Amino acid sequence: MSRTTSTERSAMAGEIDVVIVGAGFGGMYMLHRLRGLGLSAIVFDVASGVGGTWYWNRYPGARCDVESMQYSYAFDETLQQEWQWSELFAGQPEILRYANYVADRFDLRRDMRFETRVTDAVFDPATRRWAVRTDRGDALSARHCVMATGCLSAARMPDFPGRDSFKGQTYHTGYWPHEGVDFTGKRVAVIGTGSSAIQSIPVIAQQAEHVTVFQRTPNFSIPSRNGPMSESYARSWKDSYPAKRAEARMTRNGILANPLDKSAIETPEAERLTIYEQRWASGGTTFMAAFNDLIVNKASNDTAAEFVRNKIREMVKDPATAELLAPTNHPIGTKRICVDTDYYLTYNQPNVSLVDVRHTPIEAITPDGVMVGGKEYKVDAIVFATGFDAMTGALTRINIVGRDGATLVQEWEAGPRTYLGLMCAGFPNLFMITGPGSPSVLSNMMVSIEQHVDWITDCLASLRDRQMDCIEPTRAAQDAWVEHVNEVAHTTLYPSAASWYMGANIEGKPRVFMPYIGGVGAYRQKCDAVAAAGYEGFVLSGPARVAAAAE
Ligand code: NAP
Repeated sequence: MSRTTSTERSAMAGEIDVVIVGAGFGGMYMLHRLRGLGLSAIVFDVASGVGGTWYWNRYPGARCDVESMQYSYAFDETLQQEWQWSELFAGQPEILRYANYVADRFDLRRDMRFETRVTDAVFDPATRRWAVRTDRGDALSARHCVMATGCLSAARMPDFPGRDSFKGQTYHTGYWPHEGVDFTGKRVAVIGTGSSAIQSIPVIAQQAEHVTVFQRTPNFSIPSRNGPMSESYARSWKDSYPAKRAEARMTRNGILANPLDKSAIETPEAERLTIYEQRWASGGTTFMAAFNDLIVNKASNDTAAEFVRNKIREMVKDPATAELLAPTNHPIGTKRICVDTDYYLTYNQPNVSLVDVRHTPIEAITPDGVMVGGKEYKVDAIVFATGFDAMTGALTRINIVGRDGATLVQEWEAGPRTYLGLMCAGFPNLFMITGPGSPSVLSNMMVSIEQHVDWITDCLASLRDRQMDCIEPTRAAQDAWVEHVNEVAHTTLYPSAASWYMGANIEGKPRVFMPYIGGVGAYRQKCDAVAAAGYEGFVLSGPARVAAAAE
């Protein structure tokens, strides 16, 4: 997890309109739009290049689980016409190339400073500006801050006793070495069976002498059916991109998935199974769009879950391993559904074994391996596919101090509280891209990122038109939104799973369903309506009115 600083530069100081934290897809597009407004902006990122999540997550098999034709920027028609994806679901290297291509094409790097961690952002009510500091000595005074810090960017390493005593190599999927890792002839432990593990295990198993997977909770995974992008398929998107993008923006999760408006449980069994078979054959996360009630009706959900469990039983030859891999402790889709290439089939290989650490947890990491139930599994390398402090981790790791001196950590002690997932009461002029309380991780991130960036851009333009320079949500609007987010979440099966959506993967983190599940279409309409009503629920102020702001 260490980083090297390869570039020397002098520290920045002075005033700027906007500091953007993060050079992933959110920060990149934000910079582009702010330049369009004529505002001065600078982007800081710890990484040495653009790409955010796709910069860090270089583990073997890393691949997007949203189709490339949909997981790409829509803001520039020429860009979306000229870029050619080589596969239906792009792999990490290709997505990173795309990010770099966009950075070059829009000349973004000249306003980016890499290998720089933003450490503090402190609001000064007197000047209505943020004092932003970095670990490279930068000290800027910014009118606005945009936190484009990503939802899954604060990697999480469980504190296993003896972790540092291990003599071999350790890796976290979220901080994979840039030069790659050669596992040839190695005995490898993989801890975790979330999306990152499910993608990497089949690839590591092609190389390693032996892979031992330590599984606490099995996950549902759907085959991606990835393949080369045909010219005709790409053309079918490009010929009607604007219309397709517009349609996707009004869907539930920002992905065109041909949802069937029919209840699973009310559909006769034979027909239901045919529909599941068709979805399974076409693959991908859109499996969950097979029926309209899979995420709200437990009986319907059970039919989909059992269908997938039966597929696992068919694929995995050893019945005991198959049963271990078949998830039974959460409804399908309530933990992020995984998408794989040959994940379950990998367990038929003689060099792959599965260890259940739910009933007998990992006791310790030893100098030679992993200790479970008094048995030591000797390995040469350990891959921690143990996830992230999702949605809030990247924000709370920065010392963000608001108007009244309270930190964001203090404000969010009982769980994140935001208005629309965009702003937080007490923290004027600080925006979040895909923050908690917005559809975010439940959606096609590209769609949600563009919607937030566009909304923030319009908001800053509107402030300028009104000769205002400060915006902050009221506590009342924020409270009402938080209540709505919770209410909608509890009409679904989501809160029943101990997921990272609920903060359940981090010890001591409040159990609150963090993203907004009302759908990206409905959410967009709400955000637009708020803006059209003169930023309803926000207090806008200028130099003379700031003292009265946000009571
Ligand atoms: P994750 O889903 O949080 O999975 C972490 C895994 O580590 C879980 O299986 C967890 O078990 C296990 N684990 C954690 N602490 C453990 C411990 N002390 N002992 C044993 N096992 C432990 O993390 P992820 O796989 O990195 O994925 C996170 C999210 O990133 C995904 O849900 C997805 O949204 C995104 N992602 C997307 C893609 C894609 O687009 N294809 C790929 C990778 C990731 P428990 O479940 O029991 O906690």
